Amino acid sequence: MRQLVEVKVKSKSVKDITNGYPLLSKEAIETSLEKIQEGSILRLIDSNGRYIATAYYGLQNKGIGWVLTRKEQEKMDTKFFVKKFSEAIAKREHFYAAEDTTAFRVFNGEGDGIGGLTIDFFNGFYMASWYSEGIYSFREDIYQALNEVVEVRGLYEKLRFNTNGQYVEQNDYVSGEKGEFPLIVLENGMKYAVDLNDGAMTGIFLDQRNVRKALRDRYSEGKTVLNTFSYTGAFSVAAVLGGSIKTTSVDLAKRSLPKTIEQFAVNGIDYEAQDIKVMNVFDYFRYADRHDLKFDVVVLDPPSFARTKKMTFSTAKDYPKLIKDTLKITNDDGIIIASTNNASFNMKKFKTFIDKGFSEANKRYKIIEEYQLPEDFTVPQHYPEFNYLKVVFIKVMS
Ligand code: SAH
Repeated sequence: MRQLVEVKVKSKSVKDITNGYPLLSKEAIETSLEKIQEGSILRLIDSNGRYIATAYYGLQNKGIGWVLTRKEQEKMDTKFFVKKFSEAIAKREHFYAAEDTTAFRVFNGEGDGIGGLTIDFFNGFYMASWYSEGIYSFREDIYQALNEVVEVRGLYEKLRFNTNGQYVEQNDYVSGEKGEFPLIVLENGMKYAVDLNDGAMTGIFLDQRNVRKALRDRYSEGKTVLNTFSYTGAFSVAAVLGGSIKTTSVDLAKRSLPKTIEQFAVNGIDYEAQDIKVMNVFDYFRYADRHDLKFDVVVLDPPSFARTKKMTFSTAKDYPKLIKDTLKITNDDGIIIASTNNASFNMKKFKTFIDKGFSEANKRYKIIEEYQLPEDFTVPQHYPEFNYLKVVFIKVMS
């Protein structure tokens, strides 16, 4: 039986919750939650015992659970999940209808009313990502609801809740048709190979869709493009399809080489005419500088935090230096596409990192475009802190 626990919210946090703030933090509550099981229903009350909202208990590094409803009578059953999924899908009708895009996010956690769960669509297949044991305890009702609302060709899942949001190695297949991987999806007419049954990642980060389109449509024609932290080379594919003279993709993961070749190949691109380097980006910067290599466009998309044998990199600390290093190998009038998915700082702060990098290099710049999460990655209204993606297109002035 699922536990139901009454939890007193500190008076300073009551207003946040009644205003719609979805995340429950340890600091917001007075009741001790020591003996509470993952997946317990929390009946949140104020200091006078009045009902505020219903949440579930699920530990993530961000918090201890998520608010699900502010209607006292609402139960967390299949019907509730059907309602949430129907609303989310109604918002994505144009994605379902689009013929040139067959991969998108169907359900974006807290932005669609259930924190800790995301669901992506890949050409008829669905992939759920679970971020706590608590939300995973609703799995059966949730999958039943999903199957009621949409036709699921095949279902896959990723468990991201053992320690620190790391992926748990497991069989990702759940039900329906088994996919034949790589599965080819379309994104604004570009092809991407994805694999839903191969570890933590699928081969493509769907939240960069609009950035890839911008790169292809407006920044690639006749240009040389350096794609750093390139993973499967998704940005490089967009650049080549946009008319780039040549792309260089740099990533230190060995698998990035065959994966990038595959992304080029499914688009009919001769990968031998492109450069793919398996190496540390920071070593590549030194190499390029020594060889006087310069690029018209440089994409910077580092992980929030990375550790190699020799060094650690943290976006919050090291982005200015990354910009400074990049400037040495970027042509005047060139474009730097600076991206980060680090949720611990906002766009304003990110721009201060960019500014610092340029001023240390004694270079002027102009910001020409900005992107955050695309429409299908719904963010809770009034709470931009959940909009973790920040991408800035910067023109290097001569
Ligand atoms: N830009 C990619 C996603 C990047 S994910 C895309 O749009 O698909 C981050 C990548 O950075 C991973 O593939 C990881 O292998 C790589 N990485 C981390 N530290 C690195 C380093 N120091 N040098 C090169 N690659 C690195």
